[in-house]
Amino acid sequence: MSRITLSCIKADVGGLVGHGEVHPEMLERSRELLGESDLLIDFHVTRVGDDINFVMTHREGVDDPGIHGLCWDTFKKVTLVAQKYKLYGAGQDLLVDAFSGNVRGLGPGVCEMEFDERPSEPVIVFMADKTEPGAWNLPLYKIFADPFNTPGLVIDNKMHAGFDFIVHDLKKNEQIKLSCPEEIYDLLMFIGAPHAYVIKDIVSRELDDIAATATTTKLSMIAGRYVGKDDPSLIVRCQSGLPAVGEVLEPFATPHLVGGWMRGSHCGPLMPCTVEDARPSRLDGPPRVIALGFQIAEGKLIGPRDMFQDSVWDKAREMAREMAYIMRRQGPFEPHRLSLEEMEYTTMPQIMKRLAERWEAIPEPGETARELIASGRAASTGDGGDID
Ligand SMILES: [Mg+2]
Repeated sequence: MSRITLSCIKADVGGLVGHGEVHPEMLERSRELLGESDLLIDFHVTRVGDDINFVMTHREGVDDPGIHGLCWDTFKKVTLVAQKYKLYGAGQDLLVDAFSGNVRGLGPGVCEMEFDERPSEPVIVFMADKTEPGAWNLPLYKIFADPFNTPGLVIDNKMHAGFDFIVHDLKKNEQIKLSCPEEIYDLLMFIGAPHAYVIKDIVSRELDDIAATATTTKLSMIAGRYVGKDDPSLIVRCQSGLPAVGEVLEPFATPHLVGGWMRGSHCGPLMPCTVEDARPSRLDGPPRVIALGFQIAEGKLIGPRDMFQDSVWDKAREMAREMAYIMRRQGPFEPHRLSLEEMEYTTMPQIMKRLAERWEAIPEPGETARELIASGRAASTGDGGDID
């Protein structure tokens, strides 16, 4: 049997009332256009917040120019709908004019894996809005390396061989493979800084096969300026030597804090919600994650099941809402506002530049401001009047 590729490609090409949602006509147009393609075995179009997500199966492999071209053209055409209604940020994630064979680096988020379809192939596709790719680091660690989350790591003999984590350094554009459980301390040192290091892939050592893959594109790294957070996706295969569906969902029962939210510059809880509820509004947030479950049968996407629909997740949502209140009290102060290092690609440098000339040395003990100016270490070039 030929191999199946599962692709999740997403973009924000216009928001219905700011950044909260997309127009239903954009989803209809997407379905129409993808439906015309003979490359796809099956597809599902959904949205989370202002992002449109295409979940697709095909036999073209990852990074296929045909599949990427199809998505690029579709996003371009859906942008016309956004422009017609003057939606906010129409076409904002399409950073270049011309498509060059692969959407990676052009703005849309890409998450793809190729595998032999097993006798039963359950997968969960997670999609988030108002956050960044590093948001998956903590849940992925729990799913694949923490026995307190995943009983299978203890109980299932096939999982005792552990998992290899491929981690990307977003700034240096390098990657490293760290094997768990033996290298978990090394792994945590890096992935605990989710704005700088992100988990790209996880491979089962027992099955020698891909178990999970995430988007790692960082839009700000591409554009060199703030162009919105990357709103990442994640595909996780489940069962039969891999974590069970319930183990894969479990980390989201206790919401964690992620970078993103308002203007991509704030830290807030990642709130698990249904597709229906994935319409952020409080300070354009808090960040949302949806989970769609599919059984893949001969490449067909059977489902989806909206995995966070169960009322058992209400408690997690309540915790996330409470965490949002706590973080909001801090207003423009860290750690609600992201650290300076993370603000580097926002409008922060412009403010720093504007005020650069006004910074001056702190006077030595006993030194007056007048003496400071006389010494040439002060910023002021005024007349030296009554300043001390
Ligand atoms: Mg978004």
